[in-house]
Amino acid sequence: LWQQCLERLERQIPLEELNTWIRPLQLDGNGGERIRLTAPNDLVRDQVRQHYLEMMREFFAYHGFDREKVTIEVGSRSSEPRVEPSAEQRRGGAWGLDERYRFENFVLGKSNELAFAAAKQVANSPGTVYNPLLLYGSTGLGKTHLLHAAGRFIAEANPNAQVMYLHAEKFVSEMIQALRRDSIDAFKRRYRSVDTLLLDDIQFFAGKDRSQEEFFHTFNALLESRQQIILTCDRYPKEVDGIEARLRSRFGWGLTVSIEPPDFETRVAILQKKAAERELELSDDVTFLIARRMRSNVRDLEGALNSLIANARFSGRTIDVEYTQEILRDVLAVHDRLITIENIQKVVADYYQMRVADLLSRRRSRSIARPRQMAMYLAKELTEHSLPEIGNAFGGRDHTTVLHACRKIESLCESDGRLREEHARLTRELTS
Ligand code: ADP
Ligand code: MG
Repeated sequence: LWQQCLERLERQIPLEELNTWIRPLQLDGNGGERIRLTAPNDLVRDQVRQHYLEMMREFFAYHGFDREKVTIEVGSRSSEPRVEPSAEQRRGGAWGLDERYRFENFVLGKSNELAFAAAKQVANSPGTVYNPLLLYGSTGLGKTHLLHAAGRFIAEANPNAQVMYLHAEKFVSEMIQALRRDSIDAFKRRYRSVDTLLLDDIQFFAGKDRSQEEFFHTFNALLESRQQIILTCDRYPKEVDGIEARLRSRFGWGLTVSIEPPDFETRVAILQKKAAERELELSDDVTFLIARRMRSNVRDLEGALNSLIANARFSGRTIDVEYTQEILRDVLAVHDRLITIENIQKVVADYYQMRVADLLSRRRSRSIARPRQMAMYLAKELTEHSLPEIGNAFGGRDHTTVLHACRKIESLCESDGRLREEHARLTRELTS
């Protein structure tokens, strides 16, 4: 009966909660008419009373028991309260993982192949190659996707592994709860007992000193026993203010990899893949239209596609260019407005600590010419403007000057790591 009850609850509450609060319970004799549950400690008892007891009463009532006779107390049956599961009891498990995010449905491109390769490698041999692995990049680029994919891969390859996915915000709120309930030890044990900890969006730790402190210790404990940690952050971790230096430096102990906004080819591939998953074939002109105009992130790309498909199905219209433009008019307009040449000039000037007027001037010193070329290149990459239009916007220059600038930056990006990083950062700033 208890097994059935667990199965029933499994459909009602997240697995993680089930594992934390319900599985530790024992059903003490259901021969009679009473259902007596025992909890290993006060904390579990209170949690269950507060959140799950009603559900369980529901279940037992359905099986002919009197709801009022379903009770929960702190365990007296086994004299020792159960603290840690024993070796045999300790079965593997995956907490908080989302089935939809897998390596197989992650579309690869230049912008994300490094992050993908690192995640895959870590998943192949957790705890040994890079620890921690930290993926960073702006929102909607697939960090969470890769985190879940790695977790899923590890859990499937090792049935005994305990894999836990967790958003940093949740870590913070659970820690606060644990402090309030005086159960910080249980909290600690819980996170230190997993084999792989996947912690999403660590920028949430900014300014939360106590959480950082707690995480710092968890982090060390996990690393020491070679448990794998994978983290994500929405920007380069050193740029997150309000994170303690010692924690920040620790983030960099393993491997830190960025995910960039996808380039045009990747955006096309993503659209095609997502359409195929929905059993839909998009014509090239529709795919190109969306991919050309929506540059910043995959989430928006996906959102646009979803709304297009939903609208088309609802109205029975075929998805052609005209219909796409009609449905996505507002979305596309926002994206167009976001990145203007003017905006690029301002961001580039800020970045290199110069004035926009310098970018537009005739001055040719290297310290001005290079940023100017960068700005032109970004304008070509990120807007729909033609070369003559861009030249015009840069103090009335010729289109061949713009072309030259683009080629120059492109080739420098191949050879010069620092410039490549500058380009990546500017792109990130402009597109997020
Ligand atoms: P982030 O965590 O970086 O903000 P997510 O991982 O939540 O981004 O990704 C947003 C959405 O885009 C998700 O639905 C995810 O599946 C999808 N996505 C992102 N990158 C890719 C990719 N390379 N291939 C397929 N889907 C992707
Ligand atoms: Mg995310």
